[in-house]
Formats: sequence, C-alpha cells, structure tokens
Amino acid sequence: MDFAIPENMRPILTRIGRFVEKELIPLESLFLSGDIDSLMPELEKKRDRVREMKLWAPLHPREYGGMGLTLTESALLFEILGRSPLGPYIFGCMAPDAGNIEILHKYADDRQREAFLLPLVAGGSRSCFSMTEADMPGSNPVMMETNAVKDGKEYVINGRKWYTTAADGAAFAIVMAVTDPNGPPHRRASMIIVPTDTPGFRILRSIPVMGRTGSGYFSHAEIEYRDCRVFRDNILGPEGHGFTIAQERLGPGRIHHCMRWIGVCSRAFDLMCAHAGSRTIAPGKKLASREIIQAWIAESAAEIRAARLMVLHAAWKIDRFGAKKARKDISMIKFIAAGTLQRVLDRALQVHGGLGMTDDTIIAFFFRHERAARIYDGPDEVHKLSVARQIMKAYENRTS
Ligand SMILES: Cc1cc2nc3c(=O)[nH]c(=O)nc-3n(C[C@H](O)[C@H](O)[C@H](O)COP(=O)(O)OP(=O)(O)OC[C@H]3O[C@@H](n4cnc5c(N)ncnc54)[C@H](O)[C@@H]3O)c2cc1C
Repeated sequence: MDFAIPENMRPILTRIGRFVEKELIPLESLFLSGDIDSLMPELEKKRDRVREMKLWAPLHPREYGGMGLTLTESALLFEILGRSPLGPYIFGCMAPDAGNIEILHKYADDRQREAFLLPLVAGGSRSCFSMTEADMPGSNPVMMETNAVKDGKEYVINGRKWYTTAADGAAFAIVMAVTDPNGPPHRRASMIIVPTDTPGFRILRSIPVMGRTGSGYFSHAEIEYRDCRVFRDNILGPEGHGFTIAQERLGPGRIHHCMRWIGVCSRAFDLMCAHAGSRTIAPGKKLASREIIQAWIAESAAEIRAARLMVLHAAWKIDRFGAKKARKDISMIKFIAAGTLQRVLDRALQVHGGLGMTDDTIIAFFFRHERAARIYDGPDEVHKLSVARQIMKAYENRTS
C-alpha cells in the first residue's frame, strides 16, 4: 500500500492550492453578497488565467485540452478546488458540465461532439442536466412523467422538470424523458439533447433554495417542456439507454462531489481551529482550551481523515477495476462523506457563535448550500439500502 501523493501531482496541487487561496478566496465576499452579475467579469478573468497556466478543464482527455488525469488524481484536485465555492467553476470542471462532458465523450456522435461537446470543454458554453420532477420521486427515477414521442424526424417532448441546476444561461439541457412507456422500467427512458432556444423550452422560475434564489450558473430552475421539438438525432446513445448512461454519469461524479466535500471540510476545519485558537473566552483563556472544543477538533480531524481515505480508495478501485466492481464503495462514500460534511460544518459554525451565522465567513454559506449533499446524487438512505442489500447477499440462506 502506498499512501503517497503521486509525484506528477504534487507541483500541480501546490499551484492550484496557491491559486485558490490567493485569487479565489478573496472574491468570496462579493460572491456572498449575492451580486453574481457583478462578479462574472472577474470570474471570466480568473478563468483566462487558469487557461494561461495550462490548468483548464483538468478532467478531460489530453486531446481535448485537458490533463488526462486518472480518477484518483482528479479526486486530489477536487479536494483543493472544494476549499472555495468558486474553485470548480474557475477551473472548468464544475457540475453539471463535468458529468455532461463525460457522457458526451462516451456517447456523442460526430455532429453532437462538434455542436455540444467541444464548446462545453472550451468553456464557451454551459449545459444542464434535467431529470428530476417535482411530482415524482427523484430517488426512484424510473417513475417519470416527462415523455418524448416520435413524430417523423422529431421527438416531441412534454413534461415539467425541477432542480435543473445551472439551466439559466445554459446552451442546452440533457433531458431524461420516457421514450417507451411500455418497455421494461430501466429501458423506458432516453437522454435527449435540447438546445435551450428550442421553442417549447421555458424556464418557469429559479427555485429559491435555503433562502437564496441565485442566477446563471449558481441557480436551480423549474422548466416546462411543452411540445418541445428536437430532431431525433439529438438522442444521446441508443434509445432506452437513459438509465444506463445516468449510472455511468454518477460513478466518477460521486468521487468528485465527495472529494469536493472533503475540501469544504478542510476549509471549515481550518477556520474552526483558527477561531478556537484566537477567541478569548475568559481572561487569559482561549476557546481551544475547553475540552468540548478539543473533542470537536479531534473528532472532526479523525472523521475527515476517514472519509478522505475511503473516497480515495473508491477512486483507486474504479481506476483499476471499473465502476461496476466499486458499486458498494461508491454508495458508502456518498453517505459517509455527506454525513462528515454536515457534522464538521455544524461544529465549525457552533465554534464561531453568532459570527458563524453571518456571511462574514464562508461557513454559513457552506452550511446552507451543502445541506443538499445528503439529498442529491441519490439520497443517503437509498445508498444505505443498496450497501445493505449487497452485503446481505453473502448471508442469504446461510444458517447461523
Ligand atoms: C441542490 C440540488 C441540486 C440538484 N441538481 C439537480 C440537477 O442538476 N438535475 C436533476 O435532475 N436533479 C437535481 N437535483 C434533484 C435531486 O437529484 C433529487 O432531489 C434527489 O434525487 C431526491 O429526489 P426527490 O427530491 O424527488 O426526493 P424523494 O425521492 O421524494 O425522496 C424524499 C426523501 O425520502 C427518503 N427516501 C427516498 N427513497 C427512500 C427509500 N427507498 N428508503 C428510505 N427512504 C427513502 C430520502 O430521505 C429522501 O430524501 C438537485 C437537488 C438539489 C437539492
């Protein structure tokens, strides 16, 4: 077993870490003020700097201008980018584009590659992923109402989606729609690329989430698809393969999310320790002198380490044996990392007292925003069920 950071990654991680601390964290106060439109020109400049540094879109294959990293290597990178909410966006590897790019690499034909994939990788356009519906359980997505009916050379899409992250300003959506209502449940739906200027595509609203409506990339849309017509060759992969492709999208994506959360934890942990070490709580006594705070510091350090090693191990397993062989590991890290994230953020906020509730530090933003970690990418409960089912297979029909 070798726990060392690969030699090739060390200088890259150091450079990116320095950039995040020096160039991005200082922009966070403007970001927290909610004035995203004023911030965007500055963010574009930072993106250009990242391109000049040849660190743009690190997840993609070299032939597309990326760095051709393994999943384990990209996990290490996400940990550093996660320290700021601006990190993944500035380096061109943010959700949902990163996941969409991955499936476009795999399934797009030449035309789709030219029209949708290349501008996305270059950062010239954005995309969104439109699967969840308000009236149907996202945790069981075979239950879906949005449908795409063939009419000559076209699909006609009807339905309503919500929580389509970053739809505002996106060039296209990858929409999950039922194409064969009578097929076996996991063969009923397909993924279809819908340019957002298609008649019948309409953003109804940006959903307010935890008190923030947001705009552009930093928002979640409710969308109506009404008689929305696209050519049939906008389908991604074979008809009826929507869920298979969705599974492929989620495997590596979970590693990225989980490692980004570890980065959030490390930032919150640093802030917690710095505050505990500097806040005078009684004459001559710092907050860090109190045993309960010491216990939180120790528990947080241990929990972050445990979650981090589990995520890196899952990434290593996917790199070596493929996502299918790592199914249980991928589900385990989802709920372990999300749970660790919530506990660490809660302790960091508590240690800051009233200050923790304000937007004078990044903790309250992380606390609000990352609560969703236990819900998206499959609610934790669904992952726990899946892990237990896989474990119990080995015990079925065994006598005690
Ligand atoms: C911030 C954020 C961003 C998102 N971005 C996107 C996006 O870009 N595109 C997209 O398509 N969707 C997106 N989603 C939607 C997300 O994928 C769904 O919210 C998620 O899949 C859960 O579906 P649901 O909300 O319908 O909850 P439901 O399926 O109704 O589940 C509700 C709760 O029931 C419990 N539960 C569910 N199933 C079981 C079970 N079998 N056993 C025990 N308990 C269970 C869980 O606690 C779950 O939280 C996003 C959501 C959030 C919060």
